[in-house]
Amino acid sequence: MPPVPPGTVTIPYLGTTLPPIAVMIRYFGPQGDPSREVTISFAGHPVQINRVLAGNLAAAGRAIEHIGLGGYIRAAGGFRTSIGGSGSPIPYSMHQFGAAMDINEDGGPNGNWQTMTMDPRIVAVMRSYHWWWGGNWGGASYDGGHFQFMGGTVPAGLPPMPVAPGPGPAHSPLMVVGVLVALFGAAALLVVLAGIRWLLAGMLAVMLTVILAVILVAGSGGPSPECRLEVAAAVQLALHDWISTPRIPAACRGVDRSQLRHLIMTDIARDGE
Ligand SMILES: [Zn+2]
Repeated sequence: MPPVPPGTVTIPYLGTTLPPIAVMIRYFGPQGDPSREVTISFAGHPVQINRVLAGNLAAAGRAIEHIGLGGYIRAAGGFRTSIGGSGSPIPYSMHQFGAAMDINEDGGPNGNWQTMTMDPRIVAVMRSYHWWWGGNWGGASYDGGHFQFMGGTVPAGLPPMPVAPGPGPAHSPLMVVGVLVALFGAAALLVVLAGIRWLLAGMLAVMLTVILAVILVAGSGGPSPECRLEVAAAVQLALHDWISTPRIPAACRGVDRSQLRHLIMTDIARDGE
């Protein structure tokens, strides 16, 4: 048994659909990795779930038992390596990260994910533990037994996972400048060999302008999707927990305000259960 660390782990707000996969990998580890999963008891049913959510989900199960609804749950399932049989063209499933679970989707009476209902008290308990109910999705996306983690502060009941580095930029500005300088050097050599000095001066001016532009554009680069999500998460958590100041990561300050507002309003609109 590894030592149990005290305290909590905070996962940023993930939204109520699918966050960028890089965010999932950062907080939950690789997609479909069984070594990240642990089996917990959820109201008496074994559920395989991502280790970082083990304490949180077990506590949610105890809360459901506490209000006398343990017997409502016939079946429960969490982690899957496949996307699932919904047929929808989703790029990945939260189940593949052990960040989603299904209740009573056993195909029995009222056990069809497209038509089944869920006791609203269970939905409310799960919501208070930061789990979003798939029954809130309308139309073809309706999933009456599905719950997925929305982000939040959870007990660090198991050793925290090593955090994977976020995605870096595809090309560093330094590399782009290096390639440009090399190209310029080759062209300049040809021009010198041909003896056209005035062309060399013109090329030098153009080259310096291009390098300056590359540096300026790279320097003012907009926030990455991940950064926008982290800022949105900080604001959402602040609203949710009635904290006055959002804990925005230092690296994510200066995010575009109109983008951020749109992102948050979209999530709040979806979140209107
Ligand atoms: Zn599901």
